[in-house]
Amino acid sequence: MLQKKNAVLVDGVVLNGPIIDSEAGQKFVEEACKIIMEEVIQKANDVTEKVCEWRAPETLKMILDLEMRDTGESHQKLLQLCQDVIQYSVKTSHPRFFNQLYAGIDYYSLVARFITEALNPSVYTYEVSPVFLLVEEVVIKKMIEFIGWEEGDGIFNPGGSVSNMYAMNLARYKFCPEIKEKGLSGLPRLVLFTSEECHYSMKKAASFLGIGTENVYFIKTDERGKMIPEELEKQVQRARKEGSAPFLVCATAGTTVLGAFDPLDKIANICEKHGLWLHVDASWGGSALISKKHCKLLHGIHRADSVAWNPHKMLMAGIQCCALLVKDNSGLLKKCYSAKAAYLFQQDKFYDVNYDTGDKSIQCSRRPDAFKFWLMWKALGTTGLEERVNRALALARYLVEEIKKREGFQLLLEPEYANVCFWYIPPSLRKMEEGPEFWQKLHQVAPIIKERMMKKGSMMLGYQPHRGKVNFFRQVVISPQVSREDMDFLLDEMEQLAKDL
Ligand SMILES: *Cc1c(COP(=O)(O)O)cnc(C)c1O
Repeated sequence: MLQKKNAVLVDGVVLNGPIIDSEAGQKFVEEACKIIMEEVIQKANDVTEKVCEWRAPETLKMILDLEMRDTGESHQKLLQLCQDVIQYSVKTSHPRFFNQLYAGIDYYSLVARFITEALNPSVYTYEVSPVFLLVEEVVIKKMIEFIGWEEGDGIFNPGGSVSNMYAMNLARYKFCPEIKEKGLSGLPRLVLFTSEECHYSMKKAASFLGIGTENVYFIKTDERGKMIPEELEKQVQRARKEGSAPFLVCATAGTTVLGAFDPLDKIANICEKHGLWLHVDASWGGSALISKKHCKLLHGIHRADSVAWNPHKMLMAGIQCCALLVKDNSGLLKKCYSAKAAYLFQQDKFYDVNYDTGDKSIQCSRRPDAFKFWLMWKALGTTGLEERVNRALALARYLVEEIKKREGFQLLLEPEYANVCFWYIPPSLRKMEEGPEFWQKLHQVAPIIKERMMKKGSMMLGYQPHRGKVNFFRQVVISPQVSREDMDFLLDEMEQLAKDL
């Protein structure tokens, strides 16, 4: 509290004592934690709660008091605001949130997030993040083991998209190291290859890095969405003939939409033959490496030069938790990215400055994302993580079998992974012939069902057009909170919502 006695004034401001009322602040934290516990965590697996309390933007603006004013609000009002925010936010931990490639709640990674939010560290130097740096080191080492490399390097990034960008830039640096100083001018036209089912971050990375989206050659995929190696070979030769400089192949292990795994061994052969860097975007599919039963999906991944893997997806480590792993252990990552800031990375520190790993990053401040994965891994053990993956894939299998049994549901393809893609064909379309009119009508079904499910708040699941045309649903099974009852509910509810269509 302000001390008026012996007050030291500078520019009319009293400097005695702290100005923050810590007691009131701590009480606020305590009460807010109670709200989080009751409204988010306890309700997370209550299926009678809504997945979302949907409101149109204009309505939501009126309900929420969003305006920032000259004077602050009372604690009571602030607690109410916290309640409101929670009420109108989507409950991604709800057992019927099937919308994205992540879902569910992992209690241990959640606590890890609470701890790091409270400590507010930045993972660049050992002096400010001693524990979190060691944690990152050990987690990366373990992930590298699962990839099957003898050694390697890595870094946690804000998102798989960023990991892909890092990899692209690293491959280019390896191809022409002088680019770091000289920039793009004087370089030949660099070309990279990825499948037409790749994640959209490939295009973003190519444009951001000045490679240009036209220099991303999209390789045809087979009917299951896997890159066709023979097509890759052809495109590499085409690029060579054009006089451009191929430098990188980005394979995908677990495509975002269909969950397809590119044939890594065959792709690695082509990369070896042509001296191309092989990056595997295993942002989604990487978690299968933890499962002895399913790791064969990524057969050949040990031949990659770099791998992007997001434990925040199937393993549920909490957004964001994404690693880029690199086979090179000669310091390529650091050479590529370092800027040697003298105020942060002094070389004459009293400890081993190799632990100041921040210069491997393009970021300055960086969150300790490895920690939430580490605490969860500690809690579940590798076996627990493996069970998580096995169960997700078994549940997806169950859903597929149910879809086959039910009238009106049509599978797009047999899934390899946890992506179950299907159409729901409402009663009125079932007798119609599969012509243009049928597909045009079916195209409209998914958005209508989606609207109805969101307005009701009973579940959420994603849809999208197939090869740019007919909308289908994509259900991704991940969360250990989800059971076969929720799979049954999904199908029942869809029938219910589309009864009149
Ligand atoms: C999700 C995903 C990404 C992007 O990861 P973010 O963490 O969302 O940036 C990249 N590639 C694939 C294959 C993905 O499924």
